[in-house]
Amino acid sequence: MDLLEYQGKQYFASFGIPVSEGRVARTVEEAVAAADSVGYPVVVKAQVHVGGRGKAGGVKLANDADEVRTHAGNILGMDIKGHTVNIVWIEHASDIAEEYYASFTLDRSVKKYLGMLSAQGGVEIEAVAEETPDAIAKIWIDPVDGLSEQQCRDWVKAAKLNPQAEDGAVEILGKLYRTYTEGDADLVEINPLILRADGAVHALDAKVTLDNNADFRHEWDEYQQTQVRDEREEAAFNAGLQYVGLEGNVGIIANGAGLAMSTLDVVNQVGGDPANFLDVGGGADADKFVAALTIIDNDPRVRSIFINIFGGITRGEEVANGIIAALDRIDIASPIVIRLDGTNADEGRRLLEPHLGEKLQMAPTMLEAARKAVELAGAAN
Ligand code: GDP
Ligand code: MN
Repeated sequence: MDLLEYQGKQYFASFGIPVSEGRVARTVEEAVAAADSVGYPVVVKAQVHVGGRGKAGGVKLANDADEVRTHAGNILGMDIKGHTVNIVWIEHASDIAEEYYASFTLDRSVKKYLGMLSAQGGVEIEAVAEETPDAIAKIWIDPVDGLSEQQCRDWVKAAKLNPQAEDGAVEILGKLYRTYTEGDADLVEINPLILRADGAVHALDAKVTLDNNADFRHEWDEYQQTQVRDEREEAAFNAGLQYVGLEGNVGIIANGAGLAMSTLDVVNQVGGDPANFLDVGGGADADKFVAALTIIDNDPRVRSIFINIFGGITRGEEVANGIIAALDRIDIASPIVIRLDGTNADEGRRLLEPHLGEKLQMAPTMLEAARKAVELAGAAN
């Protein structure tokens, strides 16, 4: 789950990272009130789940209430890369001397955390990596060893930050590392991390991606509420399903994220266009299939549904019974094609046999099932 900048800053602040004082606003009047209380000059910042807001005109300096009115009026409702701005963050403006970059993420290839630090901040890190890769100082951290203060200091020196910023940067990097690890984040990024004219080091932007699997350990409800989901995604989220809405007309249900992704590939391969990604996960109770089938069938784009199940710990006959019970309880408009394989698949197929017809079909392989589902989607158009 990606946080908005102001939420990321709240998260940073809870780990002791210095950020500017600010307030959120949803209307121009709220923005002016926020600016009055924060103190001028202020920066009016669009809150959307996408970077590059500055370039898009979503970050503006305001010296007085009139300027706040103008900028907030322009930014609220603005479209930034397909994201509509509903919230602005008003913060006290900083006097910037230098802009740096700092982040932690996971490097799967070496099973270590990767820290990146650069004296060239404020611009997109991809551009720095492309044009002057040596300007990024990287550090790989074994999660068991952690990150010491001395390592941070050497790292800051390697990145050639202004010596004036050294102590402040070392302290922030230690806290950013804790935000990343104890805060259960997949990514924490400060761009720019600034050295202020008064010598203080400070986070001017915040990008935080939290690991949803750690939700039970934290109080993240507020963050969940501002996630942008379409109607289909909202329903799936409430039903506890892993769902991503797409633009095609073949609804997809699979067990396991890997199989669900392969299913999208196979549907594409045979010339079809998936309407969604949906992983029903382990287990196979009727409730899950009712929820999954209902969400997919309510999608007006959907013309056929492909259920692709590979029985593992969940056995074929349990899956078959789950699907049969689900179809008993709800009426699904689109034709369904099932491919059932894996543990006890024969038994599962036998159970499904008497229910087969035009509305519920079965195919022996993933490829054939995909072809059938795509054909049905086309035929229904
Ligand atoms: P992004 O474009 O989405 O990454 O948004 P940022 O929060 O990084 O802001 C973009 C740029 O606006 C920064 O790199 C700064 O140059 C500038 N900016 C943001 N806040 C301030 C501020 O408080 N004072 C000044 N002088 N510039 C700021
Ligand atoms: Mn930024």
